[in-house]
Amino acid sequence: MKKFLTAVLMLSLALSLSGCKGGCYESGGQGLSIVTTVFPAFDFAREIAGDRANVCLLVPPGSESHSFEPTAQDILRIQNCDLLICNGGESEVWLEDMLEGMEGDIPVIVMMDCVETLEEEVKEGMQAQAHEHGEDESDEHGHEDEYDEHVWTSPRNAALISSAIAHSLCEADPSGADYYSARAESYCARLLELDDAFSSLVEAEGHPTMIFADRFPVRYFVEEYGLDYYAAFPGCAEQAEPSARTVAFLIDMVRQENTPAVFYIEFSNQKMADVICEDTGCKKLLFHSCHNVTRQQLDEGISYLRLMENNLDTLREAFG
Ligand SMILES: [Zn+2]
Repeated sequence: MKKFLTAVLMLSLALSLSGCKGGCYESGGQGLSIVTTVFPAFDFAREIAGDRANVCLLVPPGSESHSFEPTAQDILRIQNCDLLICNGGESEVWLEDMLEGMEGDIPVIVMMDCVETLEEEVKEGMQAQAHEHGEDESDEHGHEDEYDEHVWTSPRNAALISSAIAHSLCEADPSGADYYSARAESYCARLLELDDAFSSLVEAEGHPTMIFADRFPVRYFVEEYGLDYYAAFPGCAEQAEPSARTVAFLIDMVRQENTPAVFYIEFSNQKMADVICEDTGCKKLLFHSCHNVTRQQLDEGISYLRLMENNLDTLREAFG
């Protein structure tokens, strides 16, 4: 088994070197080596670890995280890291398989295990057939294990995850325990401030309905604040052309709810939002799921907190 794994490693190493696939994005700190899969994990880790760790983000900025495949370099990085922070769920099944094949225990934080997960929901009007498994298979499995993966979209969940990260860092590097605890405390305080701001806004606006002319990776957010929603596709279904029926349904909902704005998510082509806006006269606004950011945004120091504060402004603009 070990020989086989080594052979696979060598082969994919050769392939990746010849393919010139760039390594991961690094926070640049010194000390512990932390590997993260998605942007929220990367951002929470560097907030807590500060300059006592180098945090690396495996999923390349601006790319589709659901179709991510690790390079040989990534595999070696995981094998040699002090802490791995991943999201869990279907998109990261590759990681489960990989960890099973590795020797020794790598400390792992699975973000989905830090919070209470919600099952993926197919809501009225949604194009469920856009689900990545196709309708036959999901019928067969009865959606049993289809947990929504986008847990970080609730700031309260972000605080729970950050506390778990602090806990693991204190274990991995006891001499920095006070440092990590202090950083976690102030970061969580800011997350809970944000949570308060969302709560007050939603309360003041009478719990408006959010209509997404897009995929819907923000279920934990709307559940947290008691918002109703409609969307074209569940979760992070593969981008597909919306059916005329879906578009017509959302247009009806915009009229019925008398909503002043529809939302689209980052990296969207915004086509559906444009069609709905043209027909109803409402405006379109970006609601960032914090799933992934561009390389430029990373270079400019974008953070989960900043993106969520922008979302707060967006909601004010939409409903205030
Ligand atoms: Zn997703």
